[in-house]
Amino acid sequence: MTTIKLHNTKTRKKEVFAPLDQDDVRMYVCGPTVYDRAHLGNARPVVVFDVLYRLLRHVYGPDHVTYVRNFTDVDDKINARAAESGRAIGEITAETTQWFLDDMAELGALEPNHMPRATQYIPQMVAMIEDLIAKGHAYAAEGHVLFAVDSWRESYGKLSGRSVDDMIAGARVEVAPYKRNPMDFVLWKPSDEGQPGWDSPWGRGRPGWHIECSAMAYELLGESFDIHGGGNDLMFPHHENEIAQSCCAHPEGEFARYWLHNEMLQVEGKKMSKSLGNFFTVRDLLDQGVPGEVIRFAFLSTHYRKPMDWTAEKARSAERALRRWRSLVEGIKPGQLPKEVEDFLADDLNTAGALNFLGHLGQVLFQKAGSTWNAGPETLKDPEWSRLAGEFVASAQLLGLLYPTLGQWTEVPDLHPLARRLSECRTAARASKDFSEVDALKAALVDAGVEVRMSKEGVELVPGPGFDAAKLEGLK
Ligand code: AMP
Ligand code: ZN
Repeated sequence: MTTIKLHNTKTRKKEVFAPLDQDDVRMYVCGPTVYDRAHLGNARPVVVFDVLYRLLRHVYGPDHVTYVRNFTDVDDKINARAAESGRAIGEITAETTQWFLDDMAELGALEPNHMPRATQYIPQMVAMIEDLIAKGHAYAAEGHVLFAVDSWRESYGKLSGRSVDDMIAGARVEVAPYKRNPMDFVLWKPSDEGQPGWDSPWGRGRPGWHIECSAMAYELLGESFDIHGGGNDLMFPHHENEIAQSCCAHPEGEFARYWLHNEMLQVEGKKMSKSLGNFFTVRDLLDQGVPGEVIRFAFLSTHYRKPMDWTAEKARSAERALRRWRSLVEGIKPGQLPKEVEDFLADDLNTAGALNFLGHLGQVLFQKAGSTWNAGPETLKDPEWSRLAGEFVASAQLLGLLYPTLGQWTEVPDLHPLARRLSECRTAARASKDFSEVDALKAALVDAGVEVRMSKEGVELVPGPGFDAAKLEGLK
């Protein structure tokens, strides 16, 4: 069996991944708060952990992996959105949840096995909070319940590498009169008349954010499971608090054993933010005609532990590569997976390495096809070429790429007649020494996003970035 190595935030080392149970490898990833469209940064953990999910399924078998990703559907941001729009909370969360699923499907992300909604697990959260109080790790005060950080002082902060004293000194914590220690965090808080609330031993109220992941992970994965993931902005306080809650409620377990954090996404070298005007959603890009597969490819070209810079140039080169590859292996079924690709991914998800390997393999196929991205019938009959093409498709699909159904690619019309016409024009122009028609045709093709390659062997047309079939209509 392939050995997977993962960088574990908990130990700050790349470690050999050994699941508790090879027949049921378990992973939890923090999901979105559903009040708005997912922005491009939100999509990064989805794609990163989708690749890990695919790798685990490949190594342990598709039926031997359980992947849980939650929806946070109770949150003050949601309440605020409801108040300002006059819409019902349930309507907003249901709509946003579906948007998220639709948008992530466009990026080729498989749906996790379980997608629990926080509001469906309130009784389990209440039970966990009661248990924490009984064990002396939490206390009720003025309608709130708080986790008592001092009851777990030695361990609190280990994941993110901070001590409680440093945190108190450096943090902008909310100092409330009912807190015993300024670092104590909310497990339960009271709800006003107009806010969503549930009856509890502490009055009508709602859960804090952190307890939701602890309760749902316990219900669906047990007191110990293998992998916990999320963006590194969640490491503190969210993940630190999840650990405190879960380890104190279930001291018999160890909660998550491997912690993986993706770095943040930036846009053209800057933090994505509304005030910088470089904030956009996944749907914005899809609506501009950027296929979801292009976004996925661009994400995978950077290792998940490095900041990822989204640039228009990267999107263009991802689109160029994907259009060529799609044309190269159209109709080819996945074959044997090359060991190299598995090895790249098993090495802490080296997706950039795997993509590079694919790039080289693509070049080999291109050369062997006679320097064309449109393999002719002779090439397709060549068993060596077909074998390599099958390997190519299998590799791409382990990365979630080149699925025939993936991605909003516009139908590509048959470009051969246009290539023939350009070639004939060129022959005529050589005789007449008048190249104006050749130049005009070429310019029109380029304007439609077609890459024109003219060589001694002939003319080849490949759809490139920004390909627009409508613009070819007038050329027929
Ligand atoms: P949120 O809805 O803000 O809790 O975020 C949902 C997920 O998106 C979390 O895993 C965050 O870590 C992640 N995330 C938010 N912003 C970014 C970003 N700019 N780059 C990468 N991941 C992000
Ligand atoms: Zn969480």
